[in-house]
Amino acid sequence: MSEQYRCHTCHANFEITDNIWKCPKCGGLLDLVKEKVVLDPTKWKDREASLWRYIEALPFSNDSIGWRNVTMGEGYTPLIVLDESEPHTFVKVDYMMPTLSFKDRGAAVLIAKAKELGVTKVVEDSSGNAGTSIAAYAKRAGIACDIYLGKATSPKKIAQIKAHGATIHAIDGNREAVAAAAQEAVTEEQTFYASHVYNPYFYEGTKTYAYEIWEQMNTAPDSVIIPVGNGTLLLGAYYGFKDLLNNGLIMKLPRIIAIQAENCAPLARAFANHKQTAEPVENAGTEAEGIAIAAAARSEQILAAVRETNGEFITTSEEEIIAAREALASKGFYVEPTTAANYAGYLKYKRQQHEMIVIPLCGAGIKAN
Ligand SMILES: *Cc1c(COP(=O)(O)O)cnc(C)c1O
Ligand SMILES: [Zn+2]
Repeated sequence: MSEQYRCHTCHANFEITDNIWKCPKCGGLLDLVKEKVVLDPTKWKDREASLWRYIEALPFSNDSIGWRNVTMGEGYTPLIVLDESEPHTFVKVDYMMPTLSFKDRGAAVLIAKAKELGVTKVVEDSSGNAGTSIAAYAKRAGIACDIYLGKATSPKKIAQIKAHGATIHAIDGNREAVAAAAQEAVTEEQTFYASHVYNPYFYEGTKTYAYEIWEQMNTAPDSVIIPVGNGTLLLGAYYGFKDLLNNGLIMKLPRIIAIQAENCAPLARAFANHKQTAEPVENAGTEAEGIAIAAAARSEQILAAVRETNGEFITTSEEEIIAAREALASKGFYVEPTTAANYAGYLKYKRQQHEMIVIPLCGAGIKAN
């Protein structure tokens, strides 16, 4: 698979190099242009239970082996019925990952790519889980790592990042100030920006979420509940289901039911107002720190994806999030509040009878306070 970057705004193409992260011409977001992804499920069955079973669909040459030194077995997480009283509702237990969140899908692929490009240092900014994930994989790959985060980040996530030897830059400011500080450092030092938001390779990892669901169900569900802050799982799942559609493995895209916290819901608001992009909002504070993104850089793509699947947005209140966390724990699943928001959103969703739905349990409870 050979790729180029393409600017989402002015459509200029650029060679893949280690220090480009936005369009040098207009500052637009970069997407990946690649050959058509060919999915051949007959090849998957006998392969290892990780996302690398889909190597032909990932942005590496088929005989590439560099990823073997980076992988920690991420992916191919369990898909199970949540509760026998509702046999059409499944949970995908993505907190069963090396660093306990779905971000490992993107980080493993992104860091394997950085290694292939000869990168020796990466910079990332995060509200927590992406930082822990990038820190872990960078360390494993022998790449130095600087993580920018807000001072209010969960202490357990900070401890996790520290344990992997990353340098932490705790910024006194909101999520946007943290990103700005990281981007300044990237520009000044000309380092590799291992951003789960800007770097399109991250989404090449998260798209395996869709492949796995298809493989585990032998079909696609009617709907997928997806939490959304910056949209890395949402866009990844969308790309993955598009690949399945383009390969004739499914006949239509599952509806994307996007979940935001009521107290920080710029995308839900834009969607309700039929806007193409989302205006930044003031984060009024939410337990769901993983989706507390007041200004989503890829809002245009996220809104378009939800629209294309005939999907919708649901927002959840703090009370609903806390209650949903308890409800999941009572079923055996201990998740962080950000993940509880997914279940809270599901409970509010007006579903059809027998509608097949997948809810991601994508962040572990012990990460939160
Ligand atoms: C990062 C994260 C999210 C939100 O992902 P986005 O890419 O910001 O949309 C949701 N849940 C958990 C557990 C996360 O770590
Ligand atoms: Zn451009």
